[in-house]
Amino acid sequence: MLVVMHQWATEEDIEEVKKTIEEMGLKPVVIPGAERTAIGVIGNQGWIDDTPLMRLKGIMEIIHVTKPYKLVSRDFHPEDTIISIDNTIKIGIADEFVIIAGPCAVENYEQMMRAGEILTSLGVKIIRGGAFKPRTSPHSFQGLKEEGLRILAEVKRQFGLKVVTEVMSPEHVEKVQEVADILQIGARNMQNFDLLKELGKVQKPVLLKRGLSATVDEWLASAEYIVVEGNERVILCERGIRTFERATRNTADLSVIPLIKKISHLPVIFDPSHATGKRDLVRPMALASVVAGADGVMIEVHPEPDKALSDGQQSLNFEAFSRLYRDLTKLHRFYKNELKLSESSTLV
Ligand code: PEP
Ligand code: MN
Repeated sequence: MLVVMHQWATEEDIEEVKKTIEEMGLKPVVIPGAERTAIGVIGNQGWIDDTPLMRLKGIMEIIHVTKPYKLVSRDFHPEDTIISIDNTIKIGIADEFVIIAGPCAVENYEQMMRAGEILTSLGVKIIRGGAFKPRTSPHSFQGLKEEGLRILAEVKRQFGLKVVTEVMSPEHVEKVQEVADILQIGARNMQNFDLLKELGKVQKPVLLKRGLSATVDEWLASAEYIVVEGNERVILCERGIRTFERATRNTADLSVIPLIKKISHLPVIFDPSHATGKRDLVRPMALASVVAGADGVMIEVHPEPDKALSDGQQSLNFEAFSRLYRDLTKLHRFYKNELKLSESSTLV
């Protein structure tokens, strides 16, 4: 529920509304706005009887929110959420397009050192690499686990890169967060509610991938699980969804990016590698995501893609990646400086 106050409502009116909401056994969240203040209500399990609020002064409108999420919606938080990592990287700000790159899986020390060295020289600030791998088949490479985390820690130390790595179960959160700057929740775990709740208690950003067949409402409800526990630093990542189409590994749902921007304040990035599953489709789709309004991309890159232990068919080599990195940066600059300017004058 959202209680929208009149412009003329006083501080005392707002305080009275907050107090009444608390007396109703619920939690008020004040949402200051340029025009008027709104007060979000959380903590209810179903429909709220709003009669106790009826007698109060200063209320313009009471909106009953029927969506399975509130805190992650724009109604509750109109301004964009900007996620800052050590004050050096900002995710969710129009001026910056974050490019995360690295192998699907951490395979060995040399592979990650080569990746770290080349990516740093290009200007990449965040490296990816899975130590715990959620593989469809139990016979596939499952990741180096703790050894993979140690290698990631070494890459961080040597190159000053930030690290994104996946955490697959609640009992690993402690270990993974010692190394990770951003903890990834994979598509297969998007609705692992115990894991989501655990990450809600962590002090680091979470990159929440969209589930294999998740609707936007389900995806945002999963983000809500993290935010409601106290961790507001959630980055959404579109990685393709399962449809009838088998010509690509997944169907890249780029339309979800402007849609999410409209209904949620959370940053959203795009993963063209898993979204297409095909190396030659990564470049065009990554470029398209800039214009769709993504806050960044996450791309799989491998020193020798054909020898990769996982997802080689969708991994770029360093040469292809460096061209893409250059062009993404250029396109983003052009888009934000030239095209965005004309957007405000476009009649729709
Ligand atoms: C990955 O990022 O390597 C991964 C396993 O992705 P997803 O969960 O999107 O399949
Ligand atoms: Mn992968």
